[in-house]
Amino acid sequence: MGDHVSYAIACVPGDGVGPEVTAVARRCVDAVAARRGFGVEWRPYPLGAQLWRKTGEVLPDSVLDELRTADAILLGAVGDPSVPPGILERGLLLRLRAELDLYVNLRPSKLRAGVGGAVARHRLEDLDLVIVRENTEGLYAGAGGTVHRGTMIETATEESLNTRGGVERCIRYAADLAARRSGRLTLVHKTNVLVHAGDLWLRTAQQVAADTGVTLDYAHVDAACLYLVDNPARFDVIVTDNLFGDILSDLGAALTGGLGVAPSGNLNPDRTGPSVFEPVHGSAPDIAGTGRANPAGAVLSAALMLDHLGETAAGEDLDAAVSAVLEAGAPETTDGWEAALDAALSATAALR
Ligand code: ATP
Repeated sequence: MGDHVSYAIACVPGDGVGPEVTAVARRCVDAVAARRGFGVEWRPYPLGAQLWRKTGEVLPDSVLDELRTADAILLGAVGDPSVPPGILERGLLLRLRAELDLYVNLRPSKLRAGVGGAVARHRLEDLDLVIVRENTEGLYAGAGGTVHRGTMIETATEESLNTRGGVERCIRYAADLAARRSGRLTLVHKTNVLVHAGDLWLRTAQQVAADTGVTLDYAHVDAACLYLVDNPARFDVIVTDNLFGDILSDLGAALTGGLGVAPSGNLNPDRTGPSVFEPVHGSAPDIAGTGRANPAGAVLSAALMLDHLGETAAGEDLDAAVSAVLEAGAPETTDGWEAALDAALSATAALR
């Protein structure tokens, strides 16, 4: 944690509840920055549905060039019922992943006191895991196509692309993370059916485990769903491909308090550019403007961002503040959350 350090953080609030939750996250970051002795220069970028409707552009090249110079990017959510599906997601989120080489999608799933529902039977220490999802390849690489569209012989293909380099760099990140935690890494795949990609993933994971000394476990994705619900203590760091990671991490979110509290980081672990941090939820147009958006996922995403920037203590402050608010009983409004987080952060500061 450095005195006089200042970070340039691009903020893309986006659509729907995005601006509501990022406003709270920004306030929380400012609060911990002041206390922990570093500076934050916010650079707002009004990307999203409104810009697209006005100009037809999603991510102008000039904006992308500016974003590249930021230390990190904090994103709210993009998506709007008035925009055809895919335009904003592909044009902004997928493009950023490719352009900034955000090859790891990091999704922690941590059960916190006060979160009830189906998972209340688990002990907190049994459900504290991180899903490392490969973020640039697999079935999401865009390989495939449709022929004879609209006829009875219409044929659609979607190919899963897995390169040795792409798989290995993701598993290496996960192994390093596992080494800093429990030393346990679980590969999740479906090697008994997806024999080609599965073989590549398994051999690569075995080699990385041998190189790094982490203990490697393996689970088929269907079994992993069952274990996540039944015996989550089995997992610490999970590494998996793009599709399985997408699905498993929503299950992880459901098990730990729902979409409102789940954070994510889209990381460029090589640090050749900024990483992007965003809550797992989307723009939630049904509740936008009602004042009921839960900002916890955005605040925890900001915590991941601070940790990635090397401001570990500040990240822990935010994480602890969210835990404290949840334990006291989650507020029902965004304003309620903001006040409670403020109080929790002041209380943490007073303890030091
Ligand atoms: P996307 O396709 O972008 O994932 P979506 O509408 O399918 O968007 P979300 O926007 O993630 O999915 O949210 C689904 C529902 O969960 C919302 O309609 C809303 O009711 C609830 N929800 C999501 N985020 C929040 C939040 N931060 N606070 C409270 N409720 C939320």
